[in-house]
Amino acid sequence: MEIESMVANSALIKAREGGGKGRSWKWKEMLRFPQINQCVDLAMNIERDYHSLCVKQPIGKKLFQLFCQSQPDLQKFICLQDALEAFETKSDEERREFGMSIIQRFLSSQSGQCVSTMLMHEESCLQNLELDPCGDVFQDCTEDLHKHLQGEPFVLYQESMFFDRFLQWKMLERQPISKHTFRQYRLLGKGGFGEVWACQVRATGMMYACKKLDKTHVKKRRGEGMALNEKQILEGLDSRFVVNLAYAYETKHALCMVLTMMSGGDLRFHIYNIGVPGLDRDRVQFYAAEVCCGLIHLHEKSILYRDLKPENILLDDNGHIRISDLGLAVRLSDGSLVRGRVGTLGYMAPEVISHKHYGLSADWWGLGCLIYEMTAGQPPFRARGEHPKSYEMERRIQTEQEEYGDKFSKEVKDLCALKINFRMLEAGVVEAPFKPDVSIFISAVHEATEL
Ligand code: ADP
Ligand code: MG
Ligand code: MG
Repeated sequence: MEIESMVANSALIKAREGGGKGRSWKWKEMLRFPQINQCVDLAMNIERDYHSLCVKQPIGKKLFQLFCQSQPDLQKFICLQDALEAFETKSDEERREFGMSIIQRFLSSQSGQCVSTMLMHEESCLQNLELDPCGDVFQDCTEDLHKHLQGEPFVLYQESMFFDRFLQWKMLERQPISKHTFRQYRLLGKGGFGEVWACQVRATGMMYACKKLDKTHVKKRRGEGMALNEKQILEGLDSRFVVNLAYAYETKHALCMVLTMMSGGDLRFHIYNIGVPGLDRDRVQFYAAEVCCGLIHLHEKSILYRDLKPENILLDDNGHIRISDLGLAVRLSDGSLVRGRVGTLGYMAPEVISHKHYGLSADWWGLGCLIYEMTAGQPPFRARGEHPKSYEMERRIQTEQEEYGDKFSKEVKDLCALKINFRMLEAGVVEAPFKPDVSIFISAVHEATEL
């Protein structure tokens, strides 16, 4: 077993580094574009919505921009769009100067690059920038830009070869997925209904984590609803702070979800298994802020997560985190509340424990518990090594005020308000304060799952 697991590890490490078997020639064939005449049906049926086709979908956006760049009178619009997007990723200090350069370059009539249909925004953007460079300085301007692009340019785009190429990409996306699409590496972890394996798309070499739910197991424990729920919820999400569902397929024995690969271990491991339990303040702050962004994304889609705890927060190679394991998440319809004692006892909010109706508050309670545990190196209602009976845990959560030891500075309580620039964090341009040593971790997980 020892040797087998070492071989499995080194194969995985090689694959991650782009070595190993890499892309396979045979499977690369799968990525050959279909003939354009094979796309006729798709062309007839695809919804011709500008925002969906040219703003939201990355490939669609890229092709629309390439089209615009091929048209002399549209190039400026794309330069402006790029500049406006870059503006959103600037730090607070840089915004005034960068915003000014945008106005001078694109919105002033003296400039050679000015976009004539946008000149009317010069005054108001200047004012906005003066008033509050961190606000929505260019909102009206951006809306106007899209209004322009979704008119004639969007019509011409759909008649161009760039749109043909887009349809070919869409056809590729619709190819059936099966277990043969992937090469399987080693086991990453085990959960309630099955296992999570490292896998690689044969055609592209991209690495993922494949969560396989064993059908018999799911049936026995009446988990069909839960399994379907996780997939359906993941399908509707798009956040860099929640694991992404790349593919889903089924085999005779399993339901498979192919997820963002997170090789840096979970927060539980980082809190307890490396040195003194607990994390430094800068890491606590950073993880809390990223989890917060993930929760906000879920809540904006009316999804309540309900399972916040260190095990479910996973790190990637670069030290960024994502929320994972959405098996308990639930969609709230129209601001309504739900009921149900769901979650993990130590992290459940009082309103969850006491069978009351609850809403988003349950997740913010969970975030509080998480910040507490990262800071103290132990969960809020249970001492290290102590295993209270569940009624005792319930009593403590409902009636006791948690204690803040000397590891808690005053600031920790209002952590999230401190110095984190959420705009930049959301744009993915903030570097993590800590990078996990992935190679060490890979073997560590394996030992843990062996036990
Ligand atoms: P369950 O819902 O059954 O608890 P999880 O989604 O929590 O299953 O997955 C079980 C374990 O698999 C996790 O604890 C983790 O170790 C590993 N795992 C899950 N998702 C990923 C991922 N995206 N990348 C790497 N490992 C993962
Ligand atoms: Mg889990
Ligand atoms: Mg789960």
